[in-house]
Amino acid sequence: MLNPCFGDSTAAMGVFPPTGLEYIAASLKGLVDKITFLDLRYTKKYQNPQVLSRFIREQIDLLCIGIQWDARFEGLCDFISQLPAEITTVVGGRKATEEVEYLFGRCPNIDMIVRGEGEEIIQQIAKGVPHAEIRGLSYRLNGSVVHNENHELPDLTHIAFPDRSLRAHDYYWSQHGVRLSRHTFDTVLTTRGCPFKCKFCTFSLNPLGQKREYTERPIESVIEELQTVTADVVLFSDDNLFTNPKRAEQLCDLIIANGIKKKFVVQARIDIARRRPLLDKLQQAGFKVFLLGVESPHDRILTNFQKGITQKEIRESLAILTQYDFYLHGYFIYGNIGETEEEMLYIPKFAREIGLDSISFQKLRVEKFSPFKEIVEATPGYYYTRIGGHVYSDKYGPKELKRIRNRIRADFYNVRQLLRIAAKARRIGLVTGWDVAGSLIRLPLVLPAMIRSRMARKSRKKRPHAPAAASTRVEQTAQTP
Ligand code: SF4
Repeated sequence: MLNPCFGDSTAAMGVFPPTGLEYIAASLKGLVDKITFLDLRYTKKYQNPQVLSRFIREQIDLLCIGIQWDARFEGLCDFISQLPAEITTVVGGRKATEEVEYLFGRCPNIDMIVRGEGEEIIQQIAKGVPHAEIRGLSYRLNGSVVHNENHELPDLTHIAFPDRSLRAHDYYWSQHGVRLSRHTFDTVLTTRGCPFKCKFCTFSLNPLGQKREYTERPIESVIEELQTVTADVVLFSDDNLFTNPKRAEQLCDLIIANGIKKKFVVQARIDIARRRPLLDKLQQAGFKVFLLGVESPHDRILTNFQKGITQKEIRESLAILTQYDFYLHGYFIYGNIGETEEEMLYIPKFAREIGLDSISFQKLRVEKFSPFKEIVEATPGYYYTRIGGHVYSDKYGPKELKRIRNRIRADFYNVRQLLRIAAKARRIGLVTGWDVAGSLIRLPLVLPAMIRSRMARKSRKKRPHAPAAASTRVEQTAQTP
């Protein structure tokens, strides 16, 4: 099992293990003699494709590679193409599902691609079921690629826990190879799907564009899994853990009753603030970080998004949430259709007004299955250059939006806000005194690596794109979180 994604740092999602691959590993138990799990973010020597190829040739019969996200996708393709062609290679994951044709064209050594959720598909491959009979599988046959019909979505209640026993190390926050936090990190999934229909979001769809039915794991099974997790910080990777608030309350009760002491990170809609008793329990159960989909301060844009909330409701919700010791992070989207510069620049002011601790802001994207694709195509002056890419307009092109992004960032993340973030993170136990002191001591180690990485990024940008399949690339999908 190979997570081939590595870069100059393990920032953001990098602190979390590749749980998707661990689900696949768990489903292979008993079907293969031995599973070796390699996460290249943490196994530096195998970041060299020649060294990794030697290891694969000596030890591996079936190579399973997970590609989840858009980040460094072209680099990943280059890397994968250098792995041994004689070893059966299966690729899966969200991004792989969206780029099936492109991956087959780009990496001649890929034999099969598992589309969608792969637990049952990989089992059939390992059992030797003829390829033609495996639904959800794309494979090579006599020089062309065959796509079998889609596999039905697996039942969440019957999927084995991710196999964490294969990990060779803990997951922690590091920057450019320098560890910055004592805390270790993990993820747990308790539900799949989301019943809401926000127009910009394809997370509520599976990678095949099908609306994911909202399904819940039995709470007892979630507790059982949590009891096996050793990490200090656990992200519930559900789209929205609070779709069923009663169940969320039960989850808190059982976390408390079973003495599970973790710091939980959770994605939520702002509507959670309407449920005071739930918020009290969440605080008691160790929920610390809320990643909130705020999206925009402007009602017109919220309506276009079909987000189902208004600016007034956001203000009211945050007025409640800020009464708790939660770390509140807000997601925003800027560069929306019809949005003026003034409106975009209101984001940092609004975020501060409502008391968010930190924010992230993304440009509007066009995804393969997103309804925004048609809207952008029908709006004069607006355009996108590829599926999965950003939306621009004649007035706000890449350069203008970059300038606006820099202003939003500079306006929000001023020294006062950074100090506030540090104080809050320390107060609620997200970082320790050791972390702060340790980070200061390690700063001289991180800075040169940061400068090197920036320079490398700049030179990569200057290099022309690889010509291979560049024209088909535009038609391919490229969804990112
Ligand atoms: S943005 Fe959140 S609430 Fe809306 S559809 Fe996506 S996951 Fe659901």
